[in-house]
Amino acid sequence: MNHASHPQTHVIVGAGLAGAKAAEALRAEGFDGRIVLLGDESEQPYERPPLSKDFLRGESPREKARVHPDDFYTDNEIGLRTATSVQALDLRDRAVVLAVGERIGFDRLLLATGAEPRRLSLPGSDLDGIHYLRDLRDADAIAARLERGGRVVVIGAGWIGAEVAASARQKGLDVTVLAREGLPLERVLGPELGRVYAEVHRDHGVEFVSGAVLDRFEGAAGVERVHLADGRSFDTDFVVVGVGVRPRAGLAEAAGIAVADGVLASERFETNIEGVFAVGDVANAYHPFYGRRLRVEHWANALNQPATAARAMLGKPASYERLPYFFSDQYDVRMEYSGYAAEWDEVVFRGDPARREFVAFWLSADRVVAGMNVNVWDVTADIQSLIRSQQRVDAERLRDTGHPIGELIDDVAGSIGGAA
Ligand SMILES: Cc1cc2nc3c(=O)[nH]c(=O)nc-3n(C[C@H](O)[C@H](O)[C@H](O)COP(=O)(O)OP(=O)(O)OC[C@H]3O[C@@H](n4cnc5c(N)ncnc54)[C@H](O)[C@@H]3O)c2cc1C
Repeated sequence: MNHASHPQTHVIVGAGLAGAKAAEALRAEGFDGRIVLLGDESEQPYERPPLSKDFLRGESPREKARVHPDDFYTDNEIGLRTATSVQALDLRDRAVVLAVGERIGFDRLLLATGAEPRRLSLPGSDLDGIHYLRDLRDADAIAARLERGGRVVVIGAGWIGAEVAASARQKGLDVTVLAREGLPLERVLGPELGRVYAEVHRDHGVEFVSGAVLDRFEGAAGVERVHLADGRSFDTDFVVVGVGVRPRAGLAEAAGIAVADGVLASERFETNIEGVFAVGDVANAYHPFYGRRLRVEHWANALNQPATAARAMLGKPASYERLPYFFSDQYDVRMEYSGYAAEWDEVVFRGDPARREFVAFWLSADRVVAGMNVNVWDVTADIQSLIRSQQRVDAERLRDTGHPIGELIDDVAGSIGGAA
């Protein structure tokens, strides 16, 4: 690589999946200048989904979660610096300022700082044994607890809570889930699918407590009991809290970049500051299909958005058009979800939810806005085409398993593949 004739430097802040894929994409798009990838964790870039699943249960090694093989960064002349925290952005001089004081100038800057767990602030919430789950260190600590067995209280019934509950049951622990909602995953999937997941967890022996408003934690050396406001209390050996995340947009905000539930970005991931981009969990980016900005915390965004951002950073035409996609594994119930359903009129099931092999469609004004396949495979492209077509569908035909999903689409307005 001839750096001398192209002395440009592109800096990426955040060395998670999105940051690592952005570095890869810049090289793939032919950028032969300097790439600096800065991450405050001490690990090589890794993917987080295994942290609540196989890795948490001790079934897969640490290295398997890595985004790239070890030598990828040196082979591609990517200046990866782990355990390096960026403290500030100096947009006037176009430099990032590290916590250690060093400044690194940039021609293009990409923010891939992700998200961080919301923390509880209640009496006793700083007791030992109250865990959050975002990074490998968190997962190491929870995995060690799981190995010891006993009882765990999981707070929150979103994806993290539901997956940790499943992994803990698979390791043989007694599991109680405390949630404000009436059903697990209700907030993200709605009551129809919440009921399915409630049954799945009940069948595996999870105690699900709805309407739970936390009051305090109690314990001597570490947490021993969780009290609810209504007087109920639950003894436990440790606690895992999964009550959502917030985008790590502080750096951007302090530098004057527009922020509102994440860093605001265009469909090419450029922020309101020219030459500064944002992708992954931290980005609240305009989505052309929805005609609005969207910030979702999905692995697939961190995987796929960087290719578009890299093109944009290099001045090439770029627009991110993929539909939102995510997946979750709990016990032997594995699912993929495509689309975005903030509100809907009806959920139509194709197949029998009781057998845990089905596709669910979220319908709004007779159009499919989201679809989720559970233990049914190779239908993501068809579901996404159906969403994209925006055509009215007959619910009876959707229900009919004898009728291939692909044949429900009369005129597909350009299908854009699956997740990867
Ligand atoms: C336990 C767990 C399980 C998950 N399972 C699934 C799943 O099954 N399916 C799914 O679709 N999604 C899942 N997700 C969500 C998915 O992992 C995220 O959407 C994805 O990690 C987002 O990637 P990112 O690179 O944008 O952010 P992150 O992965 O958060 O990476 C951002 C990185 O930037 C670093 N950073 C932040 N600020 C600074 C700074 N100032 N200086 C230096 N470095 C900084 C952070 O420490 C972090 O390493 C899961 C998440 C977790 C935590």
